[in-house]
Amino acid sequence: MAIKRFTRQRRAVLEVLRSTRRHPDAAWIYHEVKKRVPSISLGTVYRTLDALVREGMVIALHTGGPTRYDAFTEPHPHLVCRRCGAVLDLDLEVGGLVEAARSAHPELVVERAWLAFEGLCPDCARSLES
Ligand SMILES: [Zn+2]
Ligand SMILES: [Zn+2]
Repeated sequence: MAIKRFTRQRRAVLEVLRSTRRHPDAAWIYHEVKKRVPSISLGTVYRTLDALVREGMVIALHTGGPTRYDAFTEPHPHLVCRRCGAVLDLDLEVGGLVEAARSAHPELVVERAWLAFEGLCPDCARSLES
């Protein structure tokens, strides 16, 4: 019974996260998951996210504020909006950078690139224009 409930909660967290590309924090995920699983607690959401990150199903992003989560696990860089904190995916190949880092530092084990750019999201760029 406990396992069944855990599976349902876990599936709901993963579905919510996969339905968005806005890289939400745990509070937003909790708010959305509660619509599907009203009995879920914030603690369970945190534990579920931790487990999903450990298993490589979800990426945790540390952008200064609360940890953000990304269900899109292929390596890809982000842009963090300096005005509203939005995190956007960039369509940029980073595999070449990993190779470059490996040949520049053969003494290190370079595994992947976590790249974040800073700038403005489209909404903030527009509101600065007007
Ligand atoms: Zn913004
Ligand atoms: Zn992303």
